[in-house]
Amino acid sequence: MNYIISPPSQVSVAIRDRDSRFPVRRVYCVGRNYEAHAREMGKDPSRDPPFLFQKPSDAVVADGGLIAYPPQTNNFHHEIELVVAIGRGGSDISVTEANSHVLGYAVGIDLTRRDQQLAARDAGRPWEWGKAFDRSAPCSAIVLAQALGHPAQGRIWLAVNDTIRQDADISQLIWSVPEVIAFISNSMALEAGDLIFTGTPAGVGPLVPDDVVSGGIEGVGTVNIRIGPAAHRTT
Ligand code: MN
Repeated sequence: MNYIISPPSQVSVAIRDRDSRFPVRRVYCVGRNYEAHAREMGKDPSRDPPFLFQKPSDAVVADGGLIAYPPQTNNFHHEIELVVAIGRGGSDISVTEANSHVLGYAVGIDLTRRDQQLAARDAGRPWEWGKAFDRSAPCSAIVLAQALGHPAQGRIWLAVNDTIRQDADISQLIWSVPEVIAFISNSMALEAGDLIFTGTPAGVGPLVPDDVVSGGIEGVGTVNIRIGPAAHRTT
């Protein structure tokens, strides 16, 4: 193909104990999927159908990354989340078949410009500026389901400078991983390469430059990032 500009490079995530990598197509994120987090956001938890948003694939940052404090926010939040890596696509996937579409699992942080998100929410506008900004999706290496199985319980936690901020269990997900896969695939075709951030438990809070952030999910792994000074603006 003769492109007039260089095509963007393929974003990918490491696979634990493998040389091969997972090429990222789309990044889906579930909103409000733990009761206590829904309450801290001022909403009643419910089994109403889940809602989703996307981040661009090039928002993914590898474990260990340095993330400059983003522009246009004074309330930059962490959200620790179980991430699902889709290995086989499909439409109208049933809950009972959903796990067979999962390649593996990872630990991600849905970084959020909370002030932008809430302003958009309250104005009835899209969440894009609060959620889908550059480097907003740190993600650990993927552990393969063939080694791990399909975890339905396990501690999920996040610490800032060694102080625990979020501490819950993935068994508390309002919508389980198979239910989320079924829900998305009823609306849009899932494809191999899709990542799904499944929602965060309570305890979200602000990050500032020089914070060291570590999080993990029992059995799945850990993710670590550091917050840097605000990026130099060149334009
Ligand atoms: Mn989230």
